[in-house]
Amino acid sequence: MANTAANLKSEAVESRRMLIGGEWVGAKSGKVFTVENPAFRTVIAEVPRGDANDVNLAVDHALKAFESWKRVPPRDRGRILQKIAEDIDARSEELARTIALETGNAIRTQARPEVKTTADVFRYFGGLASELKGETVPLNDNVLSYTRREPLGVVAAIIPWNAPLMLAAVKIAPALCAGNTMVMKTAEDAPLNVLLLAEICQKHLPPGVLNMLTGTGSEAGQPLLHHPKVSKLSFTGSTAVGKLVMQAAAERVLPVSLELGGKSPSIVFADADEDWAVDGMINAMRFTRQSQSCTAGSRLFLHQSIFDSFLDKLTKKVAKLKIGDPIKEETDVGTIINEKQFTKVCGYIEDGMKQKDAKMITGGLLPKDGPLGKGYFAQPTIFAANSNDWRLAREEIFGPVLVAVPWTDINEAIRMANDSHYGLAAYVWTHNIRDGIRTAHEIEAGWVQVNQGAGQSPGHSYGGYKQSGLGREFSLEGMLDGFTQRKSVTVSLAQ
Ligand code: NAP
Repeated sequence: MANTAANLKSEAVESRRMLIGGEWVGAKSGKVFTVENPAFRTVIAEVPRGDANDVNLAVDHALKAFESWKRVPPRDRGRILQKIAEDIDARSEELARTIALETGNAIRTQARPEVKTTADVFRYFGGLASELKGETVPLNDNVLSYTRREPLGVVAAIIPWNAPLMLAAVKIAPALCAGNTMVMKTAEDAPLNVLLLAEICQKHLPPGVLNMLTGTGSEAGQPLLHHPKVSKLSFTGSTAVGKLVMQAAAERVLPVSLELGGKSPSIVFADADEDWAVDGMINAMRFTRQSQSCTAGSRLFLHQSIFDSFLDKLTKKVAKLKIGDPIKEETDVGTIINEKQFTKVCGYIEDGMKQKDAKMITGGLLPKDGPLGKGYFAQPTIFAANSNDWRLAREEIFGPVLVAVPWTDINEAIRMANDSHYGLAAYVWTHNIRDGIRTAHEIEAGWVQVNQGAGQSPGHSYGGYKQSGLGREFSLEGMLDGFTQRKSVTVSLAQ
């Protein structure tokens, strides 16, 4: 019988191990923690509760493996990544089902596309291995001066739960391609699919090159960040934890990459009051990932003249999204990841409903005793307000709550869009290419899309302005700048 979420409830709880030095092991302490299916609030697995002792072991193995892995010719490392990509494709349905079961992200709209992107990421970086090249510097005829791109050593990587497989891949593939080894800590709420990825990788990698830990942020994440033998910190998660990562890096002057939170603006011009822009906006808001996306376009700045009509179209289309069991094919929108996040999202909606100056256009809280009452389901909710200054318009909710604000002067819209300590993504919607490009250039964000609300693709340098992050991933320059260090070698030819 297929592992649907419903029948998993009655199945035995799966017990998984973590990957250290090529072996599948439990925590040294023997402790475990459970993983829940958020659609039914049922326990689906238990995983080791790693701590500092497990981190020490993993880093030792990664350091030992580094000595030989860095000497593997880059093209051979690249070939290994290509083989991993093939195996991801071969096990794509298993990976997608695991993502849907543990994250609550719908299998059709989210989990399968995430697996596809993950394979693409390995394939992309595998093909870039020969680009790990240096330069020659023309000093004079009697001197040969050149640069080498050398790996950093053991990379400590920490990832969140919202797109765990893909976010693991954008660290593993470039770091390993560049000759580093890695110790990664998975997110507490979504370790299973990343353990599966580690299993696929391990089939092709020497022991210790990739080590995959399960554990909490405080018990496993902290010792990993502060481990003296780690040479680079690569973190994706909230801005609050990102600041702790940066402090840990500062202690030892380590290179650090941070992919952090966002509160991304979407500016719609008067000429874009059309279905394609509404569809694009639904994508940009990531409603089908319950808006649990760092790039969610959660602040909608609509030209005053189309404010009501655009919201009317948006409301009608959003109402057609089917919320339900993430594992079912017909489901568009799955669940919020866990109780803490669910309570937080509901709190924002309640707060919005109490505001005199804001109007709820659609959505609100789902009934607790309704058909979706068992899981952490939240429906797309839209508020209209005249201000960009209230809590719902300023804080990252990381849930399906959209705030719409009208504008008449584009300079004012850009000012509001930039009035945030975040600067990850932004969206502009217009037929007028001059308006679109001018606005894109004025917005303070690492990634501005005009007339589309797509997700990241391998090859495009992705990262945040302001408190949304530091460094870029996903791209060739992300690999070169993030996972190598440049050495200059200068040789006198005079003797
Ligand atoms: P989070 O609370 O910052 O957690 C991210 C990771 O850090 C998890 O593995 C977590 O472990 C770990 N962690 C927590 N506290 C730690 C500590 N004191 N020391 C070391 N590690 C620690 O973020 P989240 O709630 O999982 O994810 C949502 C956030 O990630 C949002 O802000 C979102 O915007 C951001 N995000 C950004 C990007 C991007 O590319 N810019 C992509 C995705 C998500 P536990 O699992 O035990 O909590």
